[in-house]
Amino acid sequence: MPPPPATGAAACRLPPAAWRRARAGGRGPAYNPAMATLFVSDLHLDPARPEITALFLRFLRGEAAGADALYILGDLFEAWVGDDDPSEAGAEVAAALHALADAGVPVYFMHGNRDFLVGQDYARRAGMRILPDPSVVSLYGRPALLMHGDLLCSDDTAYQAFRAQTRDPRWQQQFLAQPLQARLAFAAQARQASMARQQEMLQGDRGTFETVTDVTPATVEATLARFGVDLLVHGHTHRPAVHALRVGTRDCRRIVLGDWYEQGSVLRVDAGGAQLQALAPG
Ligand code: MN
Repeated sequence: MPPPPATGAAACRLPPAAWRRARAGGRGPAYNPAMATLFVSDLHLDPARPEITALFLRFLRGEAAGADALYILGDLFEAWVGDDDPSEAGAEVAAALHALADAGVPVYFMHGNRDFLVGQDYARRAGMRILPDPSVVSLYGRPALLMHGDLLCSDDTAYQAFRAQTRDPRWQQQFLAQPLQARLAFAAQARQASMARQQEMLQGDRGTFETVTDVTPATVEATLARFGVDLLVHGHTHRPAVHALRVGTRDCRRIVLGDWYEQGSVLRVDAGGAQLQALAPG
């Protein structure tokens, strides 16, 4: 795992909208109690599921418009082969995210294992800031560790090797230098190989499959201990839940965001606490 990030845009700050209000207001509460910071991940937006893209666009124009900030913790897109991706969903989502940012809601994006090639060009078009994985942010005065979650699945050594290779800037440079058609073909092939591997694992021991595709508990504990925080928020495993765990002498929580395959999944955090909720489509 990479070392903890140094200070920077992602480190220790109030959600900017709340910070602006706190500075400008001077009196009264620093936070509007009705407002919250929202977290989503694993939308896997795909032309094959237009109703989910529509659900996300409604969420951006609705609830998200009143938020302190929006964090997208990876796998916004089912696949992303470069910022010249011509998909309509990519353009629509960028416009909606930019409108949200223009309205004063900061938007942060962390790469997932499907969309790790989202670059600064797309981030500019979407008005969002890319956060390193992992990042520590301050939520209403309390530090929280944010990750996509794939780094926590350390039992899957084959995947971790693939991850290390494809996150290498030289690999990415070479990949992005290929024509769009070649990159799309590579992505389709990688997806098929991944599906075949999952099938193979499923035909083996179900328990092994569940263990290998979930986070490694010892890695979660070591990560929480290393960062010294008691809240971890991540996605990736598609197993939405709020887990209580003890790390050393501290009571910690690990909140796992759900995927958007058949419904939405949103985590709302405000000064009073955190709530993980499903979002019905249609
Ligand atoms: Mn993922």
